[in-house]
Amino acid sequence: MKPIQSALKSWMQTNENFKENYIKIKQDVLDDPEIKEFLSLHPQLSQQEISKNLIKLYEYKTQSKQCNQCSSLSSCKNMLPGYSPVLHVENNEIRLSYEKCHSRIMYEKEQEQQKLIQSLYMPKEILQASMADITNDETRILAIAEILDFLDQAKTALPRKGLYFYGQFGVGKTYLLGALANELKKFNISSTLIYMPEFVREIKSSFKDDSFNDKIDYFKKADVLMLDDIGAELQSAWFRDEILGSVLQYRMMERLPVFFTSNYDLDQLETQLATTKSGVETVKAGRIIERIRQVSKEVKMEGHNRRL
Ligand code: ADP
Ligand code: MG
Repeated sequence: MKPIQSALKSWMQTNENFKENYIKIKQDVLDDPEIKEFLSLHPQLSQQEISKNLIKLYEYKTQSKQCNQCSSLSSCKNMLPGYSPVLHVENNEIRLSYEKCHSRIMYEKEQEQQKLIQSLYMPKEILQASMADITNDETRILAIAEILDFLDQAKTALPRKGLYFYGQFGVGKTYLLGALANELKKFNISSTLIYMPEFVREIKSSFKDDSFNDKIDYFKKADVLMLDDIGAELQSAWFRDEILGSVLQYRMMERLPVFFTSNYDLDQLETQLATTKSGVETVKAGRIIERIRQVSKEVKMEGHNRRL
């Protein structure tokens, strides 16, 4: 609050018409409807106390109160952006303090909620996907019903199984995961959304890195893990068994749900996972499919290609 007070003091000292201006400001301040109300609620305040605190009252008058003069937090005109002045009386003295305004409280809440979605290589439109767009969509009734059921259960406890959405390219599988993640934020459930092909690349490149184990641990323990486009990644037996296999194993034992999207159904994915540079490994691929079944439920998604 210093800047206004000191600016006003120096202005008072240098201005030749000081007295005249002072009287005018005093009158403006005392005529202000909110200040009038404040003073009428505290009749015990002496004239001397009021005159002594004219600068505080002036400061109060000029600031936006609870966003009444600002359209958004970024255009807040107050000295302390996002804070609104409050006048009160303590021991018969006038006090001026600042509290967070509505816009700032809303902004902080949104920031906090945004942290609940962690993502790797996800387009912005997916992170902004909304359930409202989806529930109006009749072509994907089955998938939507499953999502609504999951959300309903999540209100009380995190369900142990997620969903495995498969279907043609462009039917809105990834969008559905984004919308679900945004919905889960409302119950304080965090989601980790990962685009598989990039994830495989990143894990391979940070293999010898110090952060490697922490990263894997993070995927193991996330409330809800969402693996987007499984089957589209370059096949590596090491990734399949050591990374995917161990993350799924952990989540299965801890009863933590996993969501998937894929262009392949689970039988096709099994063939896909079996074919690696090391040859065809049906037993190992079968083991992964078994774990996928334990952490999710397979759901077909139909509809038109929305990218066309
Ligand atoms: P898929 O993952 O099945 O290939 P996407 O989820 O990427 O498909 O969806 C394809 C495009 O359609 C994207 O641009 C996405 O934002 C958009 N889209 C998908 N579902 C919806 C929806 N319900 N409402 C609005 N846009 C959607
Ligand atoms: Mg997709």
